[in-house]
Amino acid sequence: MVKVMDVLYSSTRNGNRKVTPSQAILQGLSEDGGLFVPDHIPALTLSMRELAGKNYQETAYEVMKLLLTDFTEEELKNCIARAYDSKFDTEEIAPLVEAEGAYYLELFHGATIAFKDMALSILPHLMITAAKKNHVKNEIVILTATSGDTGKAALAGFAGVAGTKIIVFYPKNGVSPIQEKQMVTQKGDNTFVVGIHGNFDDAQTGVKQLFNDKDLAKEMAAQGMQFSSANSINIGRLVPQVVYYVYTYAKLLKEEKIADGEKINVVVPTGNFGNILAAYYAKNMGVPIHKLICASNENKVLYDFFQSGDYDRNREFKLTSSPSMDILISSNLERLIYRIAGNDAKKNAELMTALSEKGSYEITEEMRAQLADFYGNFADERETADRIRQMYENTGYVLDTHTAVASAVYRKYVSDTKDETRTVIASTASPFKFTRSVMNAIDPKYDDMGDFELVDELSKIGNVEVPKAIEEIRTAPVLHDHVCDKTQMKAAVKQFLGI
Ligand SMILES: *Cc1c(COP(=O)(O)O)cnc(C)c1O
Repeated sequence: MVKVMDVLYSSTRNGNRKVTPSQAILQGLSEDGGLFVPDHIPALTLSMRELAGKNYQETAYEVMKLLLTDFTEEELKNCIARAYDSKFDTEEIAPLVEAEGAYYLELFHGATIAFKDMALSILPHLMITAAKKNHVKNEIVILTATSGDTGKAALAGFAGVAGTKIIVFYPKNGVSPIQEKQMVTQKGDNTFVVGIHGNFDDAQTGVKQLFNDKDLAKEMAAQGMQFSSANSINIGRLVPQVVYYVYTYAKLLKEEKIADGEKINVVVPTGNFGNILAAYYAKNMGVPIHKLICASNENKVLYDFFQSGDYDRNREFKLTSSPSMDILISSNLERLIYRIAGNDAKKNAELMTALSEKGSYEITEEMRAQLADFYGNFADERETADRIRQMYENTGYVLDTHTAVASAVYRKYVSDTKDETRTVIASTASPFKFTRSVMNAIDPKYDDMGDFELVDELSKIGNVEVPKAIEEIRTAPVLHDHVCDKTQMKAAVKQFLGI
C-alpha cells in the first residue's frame, strides 16, 4: 500500500492559514477573497492499466481519496454511490464518441444534461458530510451565480436536501430559453431563483460581495445560517471533475485506442476555467496529457491572455450562442496564476487587486514560460455554426454550441501545429439544451418553429431520444418569477431568508 499524504488547502491570497479538505468545501471561498488550492498535487497510486479495469464510481474513489484526504473510505464511497446512479442515463456515466477522428467525451448524461452535473450531483453529499465532520449545526445556504448551466445543476442537486437552502442568480437576458425554463420551473421549498438585470460577470461579482459581507454573515449566524458556494470556485466542484479525465485515459487504454503511456491532447470549451483546470490537475497527477487546448467563444479574453501574458477584461461583453462561456472574469484562472507565480500568495493577490481595480494585469516572463502546456484559440459565431452544420452533414452527430466552439478550435490547432496526437474533446452540453441555435446552424429554415417543436425536430434529424430533462419542463409551471437589479441582490437574499 502506498501511504497517502494528507492534502491541506490554503488560500491563493494568503498562504499561512491552512484548512482541511472538508473545511475548504464548507467555506467555498476563503475569507480573504482567495480560492482554496491543494498544498501539493498527489500522484495517482494505481497505474493506468489498473485503472482501466475500473468503472466510473471506482475510478472516482481512487482519484477523490487522494485530494479529499480527511473523508473516510465509507464517507467517500457513500457520496459517490449517491451521486453517480440512475440520475445518469448511461452506466458509463461519461461515454466517449468517436467522430471525424477525435473522441468526444460526453459529459452531459446527468439530470440537467450539461457537464455541471458531473460535479454538482456529488457536491451536496460532500457538503453535508463535511458539515457533519466539522460539527456545523448551521443551515448551509448555497449562493450561486450562473451563466445558465450551474444554476439548474445546483438546484437539482440541492433541492429537498435537509439542512440546506439554495439561491441562484442568473442574467435575465443572458441564458438560452431552455436553460431559463429549467431553472424557473424548479420545485422545492428550499430553492430560490432570481433573474438579474446584468450579465454573468455582474451576477458573479455580486455573489462574491455577498460572501464577503461581514454584516450579512453576522445576521445570518444569529439565525443559525451560513453561506457556502456551489460555483466552480469550490474545491468540491473541481475535485470530482478530475475524475473523468483519468477515467477517459484509462478507457482509451482499455479499448486499445492508445498505447500505455501514449500522450493525448485535451480540448475544453472554457468559461470560468474550472473544467480545463481539472484537466491540468489530472495531468499533474500523472495522466499522460500533452496539450491542454483552451477554447473560447467571442469573449476571447483567455485566448488573448495565452497570446500576450496580459489579462484584460476591459472590452465589450458579447452575448453568444454558447452562453455558458460568456465570461470575462474566469475565476479559476486565479488558481493557475498562483501556481505559476511559484505558489506566491502575495504576488497573486497583487495581480487580483489589479484585476478588480483596473480590470487587467500582466504576468512576468518567468510565469509565461510555465504556460507551455496550454494552447488557446477561439471560434466566432459563424465558425461555431459552420462546425455544427459540417459535423452533422459529415457524420450525423449533433454538437451543442459549446462543444462546437471546442471542435472548431481543435481544427485551428491541428492546422497551426500539424500535431497528430490523439485528442479528447470535452463535450459539455446536450444539443437539446441549445436547440434553437443548434437547429438554426443546421438549417435556417427552422427559424420560425417554437422551442419544443424544435426539440422534436432535433430528436428526428439527430436520431436521439428527447432527454428526460427536456420532457420534464415541456409542461411544467413557472414557480420562480423574481427579477431584480444587479444592485438589489442583497435585498433579494434577505427577503428569501427572512432576515
Ligand atoms: C460551464 C460550462 C462551460 C465552461 O466551463 P468552465 O469550467 O466554467 O470553464 C462550457 N460549456 C458548458 C455547456 C457549460 O455549462
